[in-house]
Amino acid sequence: MILSIIYFYKIGYKRNTEIEKIQKIIAGIRKNELIDSSEIKLGKHLLNLEDEIREMFIKNKTDIEYLKKLERVRTEFLGNVSHELRNPIFAIQGYIETLRDGAIDDPKVNKHFLDKATEHTISLSSLLNDLIDISMIESGEMRLSYRYFNVNDFIQPIIDQLKSLAGEKHLELIYHPYRTNLKLFGDKNKLKQALDNLITNAIKYTENGKVELLIEEDDKSGRVIVRDTGIGIPAEDLSRIFERFYRVDKARSREVGGTGLGLAIVKHIIEAHGSKISVKSKVGEGSEFSFTLKK
Ligand code: ADP
Repeated sequence: MILSIIYFYKIGYKRNTEIEKIQKIIAGIRKNELIDSSEIKLGKHLLNLEDEIREMFIKNKTDIEYLKKLERVRTEFLGNVSHELRNPIFAIQGYIETLRDGAIDDPKVNKHFLDKATEHTISLSSLLNDLIDISMIESGEMRLSYRYFNVNDFIQPIIDQLKSLAGEKHLELIYHPYRTNLKLFGDKNKLKQALDNLITNAIKYTENGKVELLIEEDDKSGRVIVRDTGIGIPAEDLSRIFERFYRVDKARSREVGGTGLGLAIVKHIIEAHGSKISVKSKVGEGSEFSFTLKK
């Protein structure tokens, strides 16, 4: 009898110490005092529980780090957006005030100031459109509807639409039609948006020569290539041009009506197709953007 009382007392004491240990660890996790999962130790009788608490701790830690990163990205994005909005708004305000202060009666400048203000409203509206696209895509609201489509029938009208833009800069915009029955799989509307962006960029950043569209094919896929003879992109910028608001030359991008969001949108669209956007470029010689689609 006495022996069993001592036995139960010992067991009870042991349990209490274990529970205290667990409570201490949980309090440590709650207060963010633990740095590493190796600090969680419960002894050899509770190895399973120790593993589970460690896993919980690691998940908790990665979730918190992820949320902190999201918060940083969000703040940085908001900072960029406000900065980008400020430029055209200040410019429009400036032109309107100058016109009101008397320039409206000066035939030498009044039309020029109105044209400039209009240019800035156009940049504002492209920025807003790109922002709407980015937020739709990133919040997962972009719905894709995949179909097989004929490549030539898809690309030719896009080229026809952009011919005049290339013509304004005396650039050739060429599509080398591919075998007539090649079909690729994807969302035509979204792919049109991506191609529009790539071709418009090629035209914007090319001063002489041509912009070409080519198709290459292997067993399983077709590669769409947009190649230009433009200013090219320095090697150190190549990995960053797909980031939101990243531009090699800010002033030049603004001058040609860029928002800095185009390639981020293209990347999202191509990745949503389970593919990857690639770029090769040489400063002063030109750039080549391409992506593959399933056959
Ligand atoms: P933007 O609206 O500034 O053109 P993008 O996201 O479309 O923004 O492109 C990011 C940057 O990548 C551009 O500012 C430019 O510096 C560079 N870039 C994109 N396409 C080309 C190209 N075809 N040739 C040279 N530079 C390019």
